[in-house]
Formats: sequence, structure tokens, C-alpha cells
Amino acid sequence: MKYNIIWFRNDLRTLDNPALTAALNSQPSKPTRGLFIITEEQWQAHSWGKNKIGFVLQTVNSLVASLAKLNIEIDVICCKDFKELPVLLINYLNSMQTLGLYYNCEYELNESLRDLAVDKICAVNKIQVQKFHSQSLIAPGKILTQQQKPYTVYTPFKRACYMYLYSNHIAPPQKLKAQQPDALPGNASKILNNYAHYTQNPILTAWTAGQDAALKILRNFCEDAVKHYQERRDFPAQPGTSKLSAHLAVGAISVQQCFLVALDMNQQQLDGGNANITCWINELLWRDFYKQIIYHFPNLCKGKNFNTKYDNMRWQKPGKDLELWQNGQTGIPIIDAAMRQLVTTGWMHNRLRMIVAMFLTKNLLIDWRHGEEFFSQHLIDLDFASNNGGWQWSASTGTDSVPYFRIFNPITQSAKFDPEGNFIRQFCPELNGLTSKQIHDPSTTLSPAEFARLNYPRVMVDISKSRLRALEYFKNV
Ligand code: FAD
Repeated sequence: MKYNIIWFRNDLRTLDNPALTAALNSQPSKPTRGLFIITEEQWQAHSWGKNKIGFVLQTVNSLVASLAKLNIEIDVICCKDFKELPVLLINYLNSMQTLGLYYNCEYELNESLRDLAVDKICAVNKIQVQKFHSQSLIAPGKILTQQQKPYTVYTPFKRACYMYLYSNHIAPPQKLKAQQPDALPGNASKILNNYAHYTQNPILTAWTAGQDAALKILRNFCEDAVKHYQERRDFPAQPGTSKLSAHLAVGAISVQQCFLVALDMNQQQLDGGNANITCWINELLWRDFYKQIIYHFPNLCKGKNFNTKYDNMRWQKPGKDLELWQNGQTGIPIIDAAMRQLVTTGWMHNRLRMIVAMFLTKNLLIDWRHGEEFFSQHLIDLDFASNNGGWQWSASTGTDSVPYFRIFNPITQSAKFDPEGNFIRQFCPELNGLTSKQIHDPSTTLSPAEFARLNYPRVMVDISKSRLRALEYFKNV
């Protein structure tokens, strides 16, 4: 028996998966088998935390069932890291008498280097490699300026994407036909049982992994919330956003699937029609923007500032301040509630990600890399490109980032985006008894006696003074 092997990575779905479709449609037709490779030490070196790893493995588990409907078996190989991977992979491919290896590209630096090594070893072993693009709406490298350079500013990038998308049809997913049953059962379920310490993480009980769950979220979101997206998306107490990010990050759903549904709802318009839907499409394009940024600027994967001018920035020693931020003990309720949301649920609302990131990098003047690392350790939706992009945006060291002098005031942001304090109350129950006027800044709105009765810290830093210090430091770089 000779197989085509589809190597799943962060495209853990059967629907709208170009590599899988191509493997199944290859001529002359050959049985297709799935493969997933667990590289635990590499994931840890990339700062993936237990939420991300657990969610990936749960999604692989769900993929086993989706593949079974197509009579596709899937195997799992475990290896330490990407260095070890090519040899283990080629041994597996040879043992399966593989004809063709199919995969969808990943764009992070180590992943790209790994793939180069795999392509080489496959060539030596006469195994044909077929690669596809499915991680972003438009393959990185396709959208370039007139000078054939990458876009580093979002708005012109978005306009160029619109032009591309108007003239290049994104094909709807093809229906896949089941193949003949494979006599050799896959080992995936058995191997995944050894990783219960990741998959049985209590935080994951609030999330349902897999493509069926992701499609259901998309359908529900498009039935209602997307129609109010622009008005509600910045209010963390409201269910105003899709919460699809974790599924997009592991590829349980493709960005193309999201885009096509949104486009249908918007009568095929990208820059007109319903402003709420357009606004959501534009967020999907931010995701594309950051993907193409890491593709063109691989130094970002080495922890570098996008804007090298900030290599000279005098960041403060992280120490106790970083700990207070991480533990949600800054004395600024919106920041503490947000950080506790991250640690207890594995997810944080986008507006809050910006507020806490700006507070860390501006008011505390702590290097964005410490924040990026902490987010990586906790986010279930960890995506290197978006996380790095979001952190460097907030720290003003990135591409098209916020100008350093536009520093959010967390108290003002809190009053604006959580006016009743409902989000704060959810994660800081010790502040439950405060009115909506008091809750945003209890250190100043309460009398000393009232404050003493709360089991809550005083604000850790003077917001105005620390803002001025940040302006000074950034100006003098
Ligand atoms: P929706 O508002 O419903 O948006 C739909 C999808 O568009 C999202 O699922 C996401 O894939 C994409 N998207 C939305 N906003 C952005 C954005 N600003 N940048 C890039 N893509 C976006 N997103 C991640 O997926 N993984 C991360 O690791 C990550 N880290 C971040 C770190 C910081 C400091 C900041 C400021 C933002 C980060 N984001 C990250 C972007 C954004 O916060 C999340 O994508 C969003 O909160 C996910 O919620 P949602 O699925 O409900 O989004």
C-alpha cells in the first residue's frame, strides 16, 4: 500500500483544507492518511502554555472523528523538537511507503526552517512534497506595494487586499468524498491519551474544540452579534465579538470560511454595505496583516523590535512591578480584572489586551517582551504573529503602532468601555459593593476608611507622573 500523507499542523480541520483536498484528489488516486507531530519541547521553547497545548491536542482529538467520517486514519508521532523532527518524519514516511507529503505552510521562522529541512530530506528520499497556503486570507507575499515591497502600514495594506479580493475570487470549500476504509488503524487516539495532563486542564472545560464547534460559533455570531459588532466590540462586559480566535489559531476553522460567510451577509461588499460586517472583515485583515509582517520580517521571531530605533530603549527592571501586573494586583480595577480574566479563562478581550499592554510598557516602562511571554503562557488563542503584533503595537516599537505619545489612561478607558463596572465586578468580586462612579479608581474615589475595608491594593503607580516619564523616555530614545 502506498499512501499520500497529509501532515496537519495549525490547520486542524477537514473542511476548507487545501492540502487535504489536494491529497484526496491526487491522480492517480492513492489512499490518504493523516499525521500530526507533537513537539512538546519545541512548543515550550516557543512559550506555549498549557492552555494552548491542551486546546491544540483537544482539537486533534476532534479531528480524528472528522477524519473518520472520510475513512481517513491519523497517526501521531512524538518528538522533542524541530531538530529531531525531519529524521523521525522520514522514517515514518518511508515506513508508510509514502508517495506524496502534503501540508499547509506555516510562516514563523523556526517552522519555515523546519519545513526546508523536511523538503530536503523528502527530496533525497524521492517523496514529493506539495505545499499550500491556508493560514491567511491572502497568501503572504502576494500583496506588495508598487515598489514590490511589503506593506508595513495597515490601511494601505487593507485597501490593496480589497482590490485583490474584488478581482480574485476566494473559492468556497469543496465537498470531500470519503475514501475506501483504510485497513491500518491510526494510533492518534491512543497516543493522545498519554497527554491527559494537557487535555484535562479545567480551563478548557469552557471551550469546545474542533471544527463543528467553530462553525457553530461562526453561525451564531453571524446570526446576531456581527450586526452590532462595531458598537459592541469594545465593551468587555458584552458578548460583542466572535470569540473565534482560539479556533482560528489552531485552524479548526479557516479565515476564508469566516470571510465568505461575512461577505455573503454583506451582499459581496468589502468596503460598503453594513458597517458592522465591514468592521469585522477588517479585523480578519489585521490578522492577515500581522501574518505577512512575520513572513517578511523574520527577525520578529527572534524577539527583535520591528523599529530598531527602540533597541536603545531604557526599560525598567521588571521585578515586583511585573508580578503585580501578572497577578492582577495593580490597584487599577480594569487592569486587574483583565489580567484575572486571562489567568482564569485563558482569553482576554481585545480592548483589554491593549489597555494592559500599554500600561505595562508605558506606565510601568517594562519591556514588551515580558508581556508577550506572559500572554503566550496563558492565551488559549496564542498566535505568534498577532501576539507579537499586538504587543509591539501597544509598546510603539512595532509596525504601524500607536504613536508613543498617545498613551491610554486606564481609568478613563475603564469608565468609557466598562461604564457600569460590570466586567470589573465579574473578575474583582472584592469591588462588588462599589458604585459605577467609585469602581474605576477606588484609591481616589473612596475615603481612606472605606478603602481600608476593601481587600484590594492601592494603585501601584501615579498614572499622570508615569505617563510623563514614559513620554520623556520614548522621546529621548
Ligand atoms: P473578533 O473581534 O471577533 O475578530 C475576529 C478575528 O479577527 C479574531 O478571532 C482574530 O483572529 C482576528 N483579529 C481581531 N482583532 C485582531 C487584531 N487586533 N490583531 C490580529 N487579529 C485580530 N489575537 C490572537 O488571535 N492571538 C494572540 O495571541 C493575540 N495576542 C494579542 C496581544 C495583544 C497585546 C493585543 C493588543 C492583541 C492580540 N490579539 C491576538 C488580537 C485580538 O485581541 C484577538 O484576536 C481578539 O481579541 C480575539 O477575539 P475574537 O475572536 O472575539 O475577535
